Amino acid sequence: MTEHLSHLMRAYARQPVSFVRGRGARLWDAQGVEYLDAIAGVAVTSLGHAHPEIAAVIAEQAGMLLHTSNVFRIDWQETLGERLGALTGMQKAFFCNSGAEANEAALKLARLCGHQKGIATPRVLVMENGFHGRTIATLSASGNPAKQAGFAPLLPGFLRVPHDDIDAVRSLAGQSPDIVAVLIEPVQGEGGIRVASTDYLRELRMLCDQQGWLLMLDEIQTGMGRTGAWFGYQHAGIVPDVITLAKALGNGFPIGACLARGAVADLFAPGQHGSTFGGNPLACRVACTVLDIMARDGLPMRAAVLGERLLAGLRKALVAHPGVRAVRGQGLMVGIELDQDCKALVGRALTEQRLLITVTRDTTIRLLPPLICNEVQIDEIVRRVAHLLTHGSDRELPACGVVAQTALTA
Ligand SMILES: *Cc1c(COP(=O)(O)O)cnc(C)c1O
Repeated sequence: MTEHLSHLMRAYARQPVSFVRGRGARLWDAQGVEYLDAIAGVAVTSLGHAHPEIAAVIAEQAGMLLHTSNVFRIDWQETLGERLGALTGMQKAFFCNSGAEANEAALKLARLCGHQKGIATPRVLVMENGFHGRTIATLSASGNPAKQAGFAPLLPGFLRVPHDDIDAVRSLAGQSPDIVAVLIEPVQGEGGIRVASTDYLRELRMLCDQQGWLLMLDEIQTGMGRTGAWFGYQHAGIVPDVITLAKALGNGFPIGACLARGAVADLFAPGQHGSTFGGNPLACRVACTVLDIMARDGLPMRAAVLGERLLAGLRKALVAHPGVRAVRGQGLMVGIELDQDCKALVGRALTEQRLLITVTRDTTIRLLPPLICNEVQIDEIVRRVAHLLTHGSDRELPACGVVAQTALTA
């Protein structure tokens, strides 16, 4: 293990466990120990692990055609663009391979739009604690000084305001003629599960209309049913101009998308943007299948129901816990903010509770269970998190993996 790691760059603080197979919300390591997955690969495997229909479509398409090139028409790409358009009201799509790339496309569109208006140095309004990726442009757009440290010079062209604060945005209207767009997550994920209020999103939409700014929503983590609607902005009843997607769109098969409507949807001229792998037949067909399954099984609605259960369960279990500052979230995107650094809980959750969790911003436990979870599994996540927070680190709990084995089988 250590030998292998020595050949990998140290970009990640890795837990000393690796999984060899999964099924639904469950994972197994090489020793056959079973774990419950409450993070879904960080909001990626929303249909769970080893979904049989996803596995089958990957195998079938791999046996037909993986990749040609965007030099040619790609039928599955056209189908996926149409399907996503029908769900979102967007008119055109650009496909890529990751969230950061989807945001890069959005940022390039914003700049093109600015230049068309005669703005030489277009700027994009972004949020404190926002997260948009790790490429230089998306790192520059992100609002985490710790993650930016060491990578100067960052890209210019961003203005930052506090999240969910309409007055902060309003105070810039009219003051900064270079602003062309606002880029925002409806619920900040890496930023600690911060839900933007529906009033804020509505007022932001109105302000963007008044000012002629593009409203660009980073739905990479919130999209695809995660928050209890297909997309996070739908809770506010607004329609953005640009939407970026990735994470759950391929259920683990890499794919990202930048969707747009209106004039901005037609801004890229041939040759102005591109991606070798982006939108290949395999990725797009997998994403179409993900959409089929999510629609057929009503998973966005399930996320709303299960999310309520998870939030209520956690609040009830943790109400008397002195270290818990807040339990908040939307759908199956839930954060538990503690009063101190809790990064060590990730390792303890694995060894003591056989539970996968993440911690973001040092003090917030982030739960992102797969949308295919059943009620028993949600209750089990609550139970294990509560145990983790209410028992000392020396306590070995017997129940993991054995509890209600049959009931846990989705
Ligand atoms: C994960 C994430 C990204 C970056 O996606 P990558 O695929 O890692 O590049 C961007 N924005 C948000 C909101 C994310 O959660």
